[in-house]
Amino acid sequence: MSLVVQKYGGTSVGSVERIQAVAQRVRKTAQTGDAVVVVVSAMGKTTDGLVQLANAISPNPCRREMDMLLSTGEQVSIALLSMALQELGQPAISLTGAQVGIVTEAQHSRARILNIETQRLERHLKEGKVVVVAGFQGISSTSDMEITTLGRGGSDTSAVALAASLGANRCEIYTDVPGILTADPRLVSDAQLMDEITSDEMLELASLGAKVLHPRAVEIARNYGVPLVVLSSWTDDPGTRVISPLPQPRSTEGLEIALPVSAIEYDTDQAKVALLRVPDRPGVAAQLFGEIAVEDLDIDLIIQSIHEGNSNDIAFTVSKNILKRAEAVSEAIAPALRSQKTAHPEEAEVIVDRDIAKISITGAGMIGRPGIAAQMFATLAAADINIEMISTSEVKVSCVIASQDSDRAIASLCHTFQINSSPVPTSPSPARDTQSAVRGVALDLNQARLAIRYIPDRPGSAAKIFGLLAEQNISVDMIIQSQRCRVIDGITTRDLAFTVSQADGEAARKVLQQAAPVLEQAEILLDTEIAKVSIVGAGMIGQPGIAAKMFAALAQHKINIQMITTSEIKISCVVDQDQGIIALQTIHQAFGLAGSKQIKVPV
Ligand code: ADP
Ligand code: ASP
Ligand code: MG
Repeated sequence: MSLVVQKYGGTSVGSVERIQAVAQRVRKTAQTGDAVVVVVSAMGKTTDGLVQLANAISPNPCRREMDMLLSTGEQVSIALLSMALQELGQPAISLTGAQVGIVTEAQHSRARILNIETQRLERHLKEGKVVVVAGFQGISSTSDMEITTLGRGGSDTSAVALAASLGANRCEIYTDVPGILTADPRLVSDAQLMDEITSDEMLELASLGAKVLHPRAVEIARNYGVPLVVLSSWTDDPGTRVISPLPQPRSTEGLEIALPVSAIEYDTDQAKVALLRVPDRPGVAAQLFGEIAVEDLDIDLIIQSIHEGNSNDIAFTVSKNILKRAEAVSEAIAPALRSQKTAHPEEAEVIVDRDIAKISITGAGMIGRPGIAAQMFATLAAADINIEMISTSEVKVSCVIASQDSDRAIASLCHTFQINSSPVPTSPSPARDTQSAVRGVALDLNQARLAIRYIPDRPGSAAKIFGLLAEQNISVDMIIQSQRCRVIDGITTRDLAFTVSQADGEAARKVLQQAAPVLEQAEILLDTEIAKVSIVGAGMIGQPGIAAKMFAALAQHKINIQMITTSEIKISCVVDQDQGIIALQTIHQAFGLAGSKQIKVPV
């Protein structure tokens, strides 16, 4: 007998008929002899409706009362599904998060699961019942036993956490599309279904805007090796498998909070090339990286920060053995960029630094925990190490520092994050596979950008800024530090830009404004009219030309790239919000992801 956890999303249980259809499906599984735990979301758009009600009463309702309100949505659907099962003659019982014992932190509206008590669940399963559990909610570990929620879309996380705690044989996420597609089919009509995807790739896609899975659900599946599949609740098609490597056995105590950083990685074989003051117009990144791709040169990090006036800086890193060639390409292209009227001809220049090292912390546990990046910056500051470049993904923060500082950086970071295993060189390149270099694309329209200009360029500045934001529990996404330095009143300064969720934009601005004296009068700018488009694929490691292709596709549609950031398996660009959807469709097409199979999407 196997144990299966099935999760049904809002649309899948959106009406009486849908609940009855789900009950049939659950019963069919139970009749095969499998023990079944079902997790459900609130019906249809119930949660959105409850949010609207709250906002009609208060523009800024307290988070505790919001949890009290939103958790009711799931209580309705569990009861109805349980009744529907009983009507079919299938013994069933519904339980709220609190009744199960889904114990979370006391953080309202974004609680992380600490552990799940399994005794009651196991008892009911032994009695031959299907247990229907309310998704998205838990109970705090504090003596007040407060009702908490996990954050929007959190029922996926409830399901995978239950599967991990119960040692389930598989976790099935039923939704309104046939599985994980190369893009959101509501935005890209020719998106195609994938049979499988690695959890690393899915983690990036989910955190870059593909809401088909909650990123924390993917994180738990990866940490505990939960076999996870996403499929349609309308058909019997097999859906998409999310593949995780076999993990080290670990306790489910502190489920979502244990070990935020799992490894320290380093690469001392890197050199940096920066083009300063190139024109801020569509096509520049495409031209530069197009030339680099023609030479078959593989680049690692790419960073483009906010523009200043009408010019921009682009920096990238390469391995030392190809530095000379990358520098030559950049020097050759610079005059063409300088000749543009919009640039500052006297200022454009190529700078090269061969004495750098890239140090990274990695770990799925850092998702949504703003303190982790801040802790990395603070650790480097305490060791008096200046950060030259910062590049982030949801599961990795990489800093470029002077190579002479690398041993000290590794030692301090191992100490801070209690990493006893030896630091690992950044993973070697996998075999080249042109076909699957890019697996999927994603769009995030819910981000805002903050830029801080004129920050003193010395150890500790980044630590201060991200420490302040972390104190307010504001999660930061892309962080980009400009290459250009300006000397103001004898102090060398740089700019720093980063994105946060739109909901946190104003709060982040306030935090930074209040800290203005600490930041020595830096200037703070907020822009909510941005979109982030990204490509993801493990096959892009060690394959030149991927970035060039993305930038060229955007240039063809005259889309200006405002910021660029990369990790080994993704490239993200910030563009104008108005151009987000067309940018997404364009890059989907450019990487040959479009297909002819029509995917049906419920309206
Ligand atoms: P549920 O209520 O079942 O949890 P969600 O609305 O949270 O469903 O997630 C499913 C939706 O995710 C799909 O309807 C689709 O519009 C969207 N989506 C975004 N990116 C992707 C993608 N790459 N693959 C599939 N669906 C995606
Ligand atoms: N009902 C919650 C939401 O709409 C949780 C979920 O559906 O996953 O966000
Ligand atoms: Mg969902």
